[in-house]
Amino acid sequence: MSATIIDGKKISSDIKAELAEEVAELKKTGIEPGLTVVLVGDDPASHVYVKNKEKACELIGIRSVKHQLPADTGQEELLALVDDLNNDDKVDGILVQLPLPEQIDEHAVLLAIDPEKDVDGFHPLNVGKLMIGESVFESCTPSGVIELLKRYDIEISGAHAVVVGRSNIVGKPAAMLLLHNNATVEICHSRTKDLAAETRRADILIAAIGRPKFITADMVKPGAAVIDVGMNRTDEGLCGDVDFEAVKEVASAITPVPGGVGPMTIAILMRNTVAAAKARAAGKK
Ligand code: NDP
Repeated sequence: MSATIIDGKKISSDIKAELAEEVAELKKTGIEPGLTVVLVGDDPASHVYVKNKEKACELIGIRSVKHQLPADTGQEELLALVDDLNNDDKVDGILVQLPLPEQIDEHAVLLAIDPEKDVDGFHPLNVGKLMIGESVFESCTPSGVIELLKRYDIEISGAHAVVVGRSNIVGKPAAMLLLHNNATVEICHSRTKDLAAETRRADILIAAIGRPKFITADMVKPGAAVIDVGMNRTDEGLCGDVDFEAVKEVASAITPVPGGVGPMTIAILMRNTVAAAKARAAGKK
């Protein structure tokens, strides 16, 4: 039997529609959430991501401002802009689009963002809050993964979850969120011995590797839910870390690429921006 195809596009639209209603209510109380995106240089993929974020803001009613800086922008100049945005009362969320040009220290920039405006959830303070289960801003992609599981009624509590990948932006936070939702969590990486034996134990398998079609059908337990975070550009177009066509015949539920986890990242970013606006407004009372 073929797996249920998890429709990330639809869930993302649902979340955005829910947020649009919430924002309309907030505006009646004088709160207008605002997101400022900083884009440095001319990376084509980054331009597409930023455009999509602007579109989502417009749909929901979030005020969006873009700062477009040239590729040769210096670190001090970018840090000065971040400082201005930190002190600008109209700005609820600050997002510095990554990657940054090589003359800029990414870590220093992320560290400079006011944690209360860090809607990407990358600041070490927010990473720490995620660890202790006190997140205001959960990192967007991992939080999107959890949302997909929940909205498809996939039982996380008690499930054996295997996360392949241990990056700071996907693998580790995804594992932590699964743990907070009472899964028994295993994290695998490039040094894992006999990866297939580990992935075959997963009731929930999260692939965040960055290698096209790396997870094959023989690595998946029959009936598992498979969430593919991978976004790999190949000659045949965009493809995930999972061999979708073969794995969908084994799994009970699976995300496609594109149209699975990808659209969720922006929806959660929007949710974080609204949360930032509400938290800041509550702090002023
Ligand atoms: P990283 O390159 O930072 O991490 C990849 C992880 O995969 C590492 O932990 C690495 O292990 C592990 N890995 C690599 N090769 C193997 C292997 N042969 N066996 C087991 N583990 C392996 O990638 P990211 O976490 O940033 O991204 C992962 C994927 O998710 C990419 O395709 C990226 O494009 C996509 N992505 C998608 C997003 C979305 O919105 N949908 C958002 C962010 C990322 P080790 O640590 O040992 O090197």
